[in-house]
Amino acid sequence: MPWIGERIAQMNQYEWLLEKTYRIKEFGVAIISGFVPDDIAEARYNVCKECEHYGIESSGNKLMFERGCEICYCYLPAKVLFKDSKCPKDFWKK
Ligand code: SF4
Repeated sequence: MPWIGERIAQMNQYEWLLEKTYRIKEFGVAIISGFVPDDIAEARYNVCKECEHYGIESSGNKLMFERGCEICYCYLPAKVLFKDSKCPKDFWKK
């Protein structure tokens, strides 16, 4: 499956809206799952910082350029905080 940036580039407006709606729902579910302890969040983020997918080079947004995941398009300093957040490559241990 192509990563999300490639999929978005190939979408029509309806598909793009469906994708956005799905991602908002997914983010909402992760947020209400609660926070992980600080040590787990830090361990996750350390994995991300060493990952080849850390930082979205094609993004025009400075924060996403520097700290986004180019696979899931999430802002990683926030994503690592929530219990139900998942690394799309399954690189996190917890
Ligand atoms: S979420 Fe996973 S794939 Fe994305 S940057 Fe972090 S470790 Fe890499």
